[in-house]
Amino acid sequence: MSTDRQLPKKTLETWDDQYVWHPFTPHEVYRNEDPLTVVAGEGHYLIDADGDRYLDAVGSIWCNLFGHRRAEIDDALREQLEHIAHSTLLGNTNDRPVILAKRLLEHAPTSMDKVFYSDNGSTSVEIAMKMALQFWQQTEDGHQSQRTKFMGLANAYSGDTIGAVSIGGIDLFHARFGPMLFQTVRGPSPVSYHRPPETTRAAARQRFVDDFDRVIDEHGEELAAVVIEPGMQGAGGMITYPDGFLRHAAKKVRRAGSLLILDEVAMGMGRSGEMFACQREGVDPDFLCVAKGLTGGYIPVAATLTRDRIYQAFLGPPEQGRTFFHGHTYTGNALGCAAALATLDIFENEPILEEVRRKEKVLAGRLETLWNTDHVGDIRQYGLAAGIELMADPDERIRFDAAERVGMKVCSAARERGVFLRPLSDVIVLMPPLTITDDEIDQVVSAIEYGIKQALQ
Ligand SMILES: *Cc1c(COP(=O)(O)O)cnc(C)c1O
Repeated sequence: MSTDRQLPKKTLETWDDQYVWHPFTPHEVYRNEDPLTVVAGEGHYLIDADGDRYLDAVGSIWCNLFGHRRAEIDDALREQLEHIAHSTLLGNTNDRPVILAKRLLEHAPTSMDKVFYSDNGSTSVEIAMKMALQFWQQTEDGHQSQRTKFMGLANAYSGDTIGAVSIGGIDLFHARFGPMLFQTVRGPSPVSYHRPPETTRAAARQRFVDDFDRVIDEHGEELAAVVIEPGMQGAGGMITYPDGFLRHAAKKVRRAGSLLILDEVAMGMGRSGEMFACQREGVDPDFLCVAKGLTGGYIPVAATLTRDRIYQAFLGPPEQGRTFFHGHTYTGNALGCAAALATLDIFENEPILEEVRRKEKVLAGRLETLWNTDHVGDIRQYGLAAGIELMADPDERIRFDAAERVGMKVCSAARERGVFLRPLSDVIVLMPPLTITDDEIDQVVSAIEYGIKQALQ
């Protein structure tokens, strides 16, 4: 049987090479970089076809919150299958997405009143952008249809569909798609590590804030919305912001009369130590984009939360066409919403957020020890997320040649210590399950230290 669970690893690898095209994967080197062939998971561990177990220190690319085969989520899915897997949300409803919307809003910033579902982070951001654009055409309080531009920061990442790529600012991923992108207003990058040698970190941070303000001053009146990833720019390289930046930015955007879209696809669902990073920063957005962890890392469900003020502008007799004409086949998928409800149950029944706040400090203390390791240029952390940037020469801030694939080599070596990691170029990324234990934090950081020493000395 071709669905056999006992297929030899070799067969799976051969079929993988023959039939599967992997995302964000240079296939020229893929097989040589010893990819995992996962066949199962248990708690915080992935189990590969050899039966080897690896601590999933990137939460299966940032979405797994409480480990694999978590009983409450598994049970919720089995239970939901006794009812229905999916029915459409287009012009109709289903009990799971209804209940999830109500409960999600109980955890969201108080400015959020409505939930619009989709299936991934990219769409959750594009939906916010489309809603903002249409809002300005339909709002009674200003006739501001000149607000058609969107502002994103350099190094931003909001996903891979064309709207998300347009607002994104990572040249390696995005530049070649230029001909199909729409024009956006580009803000500065919060990167303060790669600054000119004569500049202090504090000065680089101040310059970022000043540049942000200048771009808003220049374009404020044409901006439909400004998109920001609170807490950290994730895929851009785990880049943190100056303290208080989000609060400052929110005020600045509001004063310019524009709308604020917060992309919490990576940082939402507890990673900051609050349910949403904007709550930690005391900021009320106009749109909040949620995906990755929403179902605990089980099923692709995303949500775009927004204000009643936005929603109201879409009301009117149907023939006026003020409806939001956007929807995906699987929008509001009942199985996915059941997984998300079980995820909220876990947040409500266990001190997950308190523990994240405690473990943020444990992780910070443990990461400090990495400064003694050669080639560690910068260590950046926000909540239970971190990036360790490796440099050929940290003192002179000289990078490794990309061809050396140093990040991948370090992560491969860390696998010898039973830890699975996936880097962003030469930034080693930590996005562990929120339920990671102190001992496991220790194991992960030790494995990184070992990986750096193995790969680079
Ligand atoms: C992953 C990510 C996205 C895109 O989400 P997908 O589900 O991969 O489409 C958007 N924004 C941020 C901040 C992300 O980390």
